[in-house]
Order: sequence, then structure tokens, then C-alpha cells
Amino acid sequence: MGEESWEKVQSSLKKNLSKPSYETWIRPTQFSGFENGELILIAPNSFSSAWLRNNYSQTIQETAEEIFGEPVTVIVKVKEATDNSFISSSSKTSTIAPSDSHAKKLANESSNSSKKSGPLLNLRYVFNRFVVGPNSRMAHAAAMAVAEAPGREFNPLFICGGVGLGKTHLMQAVGHYRMEIDPAAKVSYVSTETFTNDLILAIRQDRMQSFRDKYRAADLILVDDIQFLEGKEYTQEEFFHTFNALHDAGSQIVLASDRPPSQIPRLQERLMSRFSMGLIADIQAPDLETRMAILQKKAEHERVGLPRDLIHFIAGRFTSNIRELEGALTRAIAFASITGLPMTVDSIAPMLDPNGQGVEVTPRQVLEKVSEVFQVTSDEMKSASRRRPVSQARQVGMYLMRQGTNLSLPRIGDAFGGKDHTTVMYAIEQVEKKLSSDPQMASQVQRIRDLLQIDSRSKL
Ligand code: ADP
Ligand code: MG
Repeated sequence: MGEESWEKVQSSLKKNLSKPSYETWIRPTQFSGFENGELILIAPNSFSSAWLRNNYSQTIQETAEEIFGEPVTVIVKVKEATDNSFISSSSKTSTIAPSDSHAKKLANESSNSSKKSGPLLNLRYVFNRFVVGPNSRMAHAAAMAVAEAPGREFNPLFICGGVGLGKTHLMQAVGHYRMEIDPAAKVSYVSTETFTNDLILAIRQDRMQSFRDKYRAADLILVDDIQFLEGKEYTQEEFFHTFNALHDAGSQIVLASDRPPSQIPRLQERLMSRFSMGLIADIQAPDLETRMAILQKKAEHERVGLPRDLIHFIAGRFTSNIRELEGALTRAIAFASITGLPMTVDSIAPMLDPNGQGVEVTPRQVLEKVSEVFQVTSDEMKSASRRRPVSQARQVGMYLMRQGTNLSLPRIGDAFGGKDHTTVMYAIEQVEKKLSSDPQMASQVQRIRDLLQIDSRSKL
């Protein structure tokens, strides 16, 4: 089977893909060989090769199998061993992501500057790797709409939701898809932190003009973690002008935040109203079925077979954060491959249990970290005080102590100055409820978990 077979695959793909997708990704891809069921293709650069792998390898595989009449594995290589820097920016804070047609040019531009910069858009964060559930249906639909018709109905699109629920994934998917539809589109992805740092640097080095030119050049700008604007007066001021310039020019703006605009403390009124003038779409914690579908999809990508009861088990234990859910699966896969144990609930469960082989957390550490994050002392938590900040910290402390240690409810009560076990139970229920309705609380709890390195487990 030779070159002409690949041409047949190409023409079949041409019929099934949109013109821009075909022209951008499939047509420039060359045939290199077909041996032992391996179809080896050469992409013009590493950006395209990663794109092909992430987005088209299955379609190519299925089409090729149909035409070749045998099982095919698709392998995409890069034409020449050039560096990867064109998917990075020319400086740490530069944000215009190159589309494929610009890749070469940008590669040249960036090759003589810093190569330490990270990639702009995560290649995994594409729509077809985003599992849509009832929790994210609206945000997903809005994101698709914005990529297809930028600068129209939903401008800005404001995506909000708790930590690890897919905001960054979804917003970057908008960027990927936009570039796929229009390879010439200028797509920017920037975190609010980077924007702030960049602004500070620009002021210090007296190059505000180039700062403005850069941020206002985008057709589509994705600004992540906008909650970090909280209290930053000067950044808010500059962001306001950036926002207006982009909006007036008809550029599409997508913002992500762990809470809605109205709940970002010390956010200028005028920014709040700008942020709310398009569409605010939220992502909730996924239900069990969605979590299982996410695990299933990830396992498929990793090419590991997972028994359904194991999927059910993992999905049941990690409920409030998809990053942790994925992390658990990754650990399970690594564990199985290192130990040679089968992927079953029996062999994996002990490893996923933080109280089994995982890190042991002491009640004192819980008190310490809660006190650090909530700014309430351990003594206050142990006291009988009913002041709101104190009782909130106390409840979170009880919740996390239940999650991170082996202590029984009465022992946890003891750790909080001799509270009754029913108080502890009530506290846990309260926190569980608030976790899904109060994003600020959810992110504080998550921060403490991170500090203590405990997993969010469903069973308390
Ligand atoms: P956030 O920005 O809201 O904190 P991320 O977008 O970084 O969360 O998502 C955390 C991880 O979970 C990422 O690896 C992402 O790919 C994955 N993820 C989140 N939501 C989904 C989903 N609906 N389908 C598949 N993967 C998801
Ligand atoms: Mg994020």
C-alpha cells in the first residue's frame, strides 16, 4: 500500500471534514509509509502533528481501515526536527497564539528569544475531549457558539465554576476551534496573573504602548482566572480599557472565573457590569454519570481498558474536582503498571485510599492549615464562639479532619475542644452543601486540601 492509498484516504476525509479543517490539517500531511498495519504520516510541524494526533487520529484511522480493509494504527511524525518553540510565545508574557499557517514565521521569530516559555494552549483542551454533562451543557453550547460566531451574541462569554471543573479546558477549546475554523484568527490566551505582571513590567519599562498594542490585537481573547482582579485597582483600570477597545473592535472576549462577577470582592462596578453584559454560563460539579464518562474517555485516550466497576468506584470517590478525578485514574494506571497488578477495584482501592498508603494527616495539621487559610486561630475554633468566620472555619476543619484522618466523629469533636459528635455531623453536612453553592468556600477548602495533600473523597 503506497502513496495513492493515502490519497484515497485524503479524498474521503475531504468529503467528511469542513474545508478549513481539511485544508489546514489533512492536505499538508504527507504519506511516509505503511508497514505492519502502521500508517506513518508526516506533519509539516509539531503543532500540526499534535493537532492531528489529538483531533483527527481516530477519524484517519477509521477512514484508512475502511479503505485498506485491515486494522490500522496511525502514527504522526514531524517533518523535520525543529524545536517546539512556535507553540510557545516569543516572551513569557506574549500571548498571540500562532495558527498553523503562522507557525513557521513565529518559529523563526521566537527562535532567537527565550525558549523557556510554556505552551500557550494546552493541546488536550479541545472540544472533542470535553465530556458534556447536565452540569456543563450550557457553558459548552455557549463556548461552541462563540467559537463559531465570535463577537456576536455572547460578548463577553463569562464562564464560572469551582476549581477543577473545566473552565480552562472549555475556554481553550474555544481558541483551538476558532483557529481550526479560521487559521488566520489571532487568538490570545492569558491568565489574569500574567496580564497583571505584564502590565507592571510595561509600566516599569515605560512601554505601555506596546503592551496595549499586544493585548488589543486579538480577534479572540481568553482571559483566565479573572477573580484575581480582586482588589487590584490599577490592573482593573487597564483591563477596563483593554476590554472596551477589544469589544468596540468586535473582538470576542471569553472570561473564566471561579465565581460570578457579582461575587468578586472589590471589583469596580463598571467592570462588573461589563462582565455581565454578555452571557454568564456556569459549570457545576458533574454528577456520577458524567464523572464516569470523563474517566471512560480519558482511559480511551490512554488506551487502557477499565472495568466498569472500577470506573464506578473511582467516580464515586472523587466528586468535586475533575482534576483530582483524573489524577486518581492516572495514579491507578501507573500503580497497576508498576506493580503488575490487574486493574480491578480490589487491587486499586487501597492505593486510592489516602488513609491506606497515602499521606497521613494529623488533626493538628488540619487545624493549622484551616487557621492559615481562614485566618481564625485554633483556639477560636476550639472555643464556643458562634461568630460566623469562626464557626465556618470550625465546620470546614471538622469536614477536612473527617476526610483526611481516621478519627471517628466523637474524636473529631474532642479535637475541637470537646464538641458533640452530632455537631460534627451537622458541620460536615453544612460544608458539603456549601461546597456546591459557594465557590469561594470551595476554593478555600481546595486550597487546604492541596496544602495537606488530601484527596476529596465522596465518602465521609
Ligand atoms: P478549572 O480551570 O475549572 O480549574 P480545568 O479546565 O483546568 O479546570 O480542568 C481540570 C482538568 O479536568 C483538566 O485536565 C481538564 O481536561 C479536565 N476536565 C474538566 N472538565 C472536563 C470535562 N467536562 N471533560 C473532560 N475533561 C475535563
Ligand atoms: Mg483554570
